[in-house]
Amino acid sequence: MSYITVKNLQKNYTIYEKTGRLKRNKRIVKALNHIDFTVEEGAFLGYIGPNGAGKSTTIKVLTGIMTPDGGEAKVGDYVPYKDRKAYVQNIGVVFGQKTQMWWDLPVIDTYRLLGGIYKVPQKKFKHQLESLCDRLDLDEILHQPVRQLSLGQRMRAELGAAMIHDPKILFLDEPTIGLDIISKQKVNHFLTELNQGGKTIFLTTHDLKDIESLCEEMLILSHGEIIYKGAIAQLKSNTELPILVTAQLPLEQPLDALHHLKERYAFSFDQARSQLEIQLTEKKQVAELARTLFQEYDIQDFRVDEPSIEEIIKKIYT
Ligand code: ADP
Ligand code: MG
Repeated sequence: MSYITVKNLQKNYTIYEKTGRLKRNKRIVKALNHIDFTVEEGAFLGYIGPNGAGKSTTIKVLTGIMTPDGGEAKVGDYVPYKDRKAYVQNIGVVFGQKTQMWWDLPVIDTYRLLGGIYKVPQKKFKHQLESLCDRLDLDEILHQPVRQLSLGQRMRAELGAAMIHDPKILFLDEPTIGLDIISKQKVNHFLTELNQGGKTIFLTTHDLKDIESLCEEMLILSHGEIIYKGAIAQLKSNTELPILVTAQLPLEQPLDALHHLKERYAFSFDQARSQLEIQLTEKKQVAELARTLFQEYDIQDFRVDEPSIEEIIKKIYT
């Protein structure tokens, strides 16, 4: 049975645009336009899409902050926006652009307050705190006021706050936005460990590199509609974008010596640089091509470039 079920979900925003001194135009933005999807327990889902696609709106509905205009959402046994009070005990939430921590208090005080709000038993709280300090490297910042933390430190503290009551599922809305590479790696490493420990993770991002290294599964959203759902590996093998093989031949390689290849491959040859480029449609063709090339030519350098997830998604969008 699915852990998250979203059926025919709709959310509209009404915006009023000034069109003249006294005139205003009313416009409806369909932020979520009848979307459907399911997520299994224990999944690490990448929920991606460009700015304005509807990612944050989805998270707001799934965390109970916002009530949809139509359709329904269910997470575990709860309808988030209806069973809000009981529901929040079971989830963790991180909004990359906001904080759920008390700005002027030391990190540990926020954790204690949250522990109280979620009614975490003393013993469990202590255990969870120790475990989070280890995994998120929190010892040195635990007693500092949140406002003194760097963005990277704050995000680690933020993750601790979201997990202090040990929820089964964690919702993250662009958690790595603005972070330096090292901080990003720490966050991503923590998330991977959480997921391996059995937690379900719903990660929203526009950073495709994150998705590729973290998630097995992704949902692509565009203008409030789901345009792809599936495994990342599947997406890569389904794409019609070519795999590009580049081979360096000795300089002054005569072009007519390449007649062997002509029969089997579409290739281009840069005579000035003696560089051969061959486009393949399937990964399994690479081995055979490599054999042919190395047998028949004096190959000095050889490179295989698969289409990046960025290119694939750009293609889906267009
Ligand atoms: P994302 O998180 O993918 O960038 P959002 O869910 O924030 O997308 O927004 C989806 C659409 O809804 C966008 O067109 C955005 O401008 C609009 N929108 C979001 N929040 C509001 C709001 N409070 N009022 C009016 N329009 C909004
Ligand atoms: Mg957003």
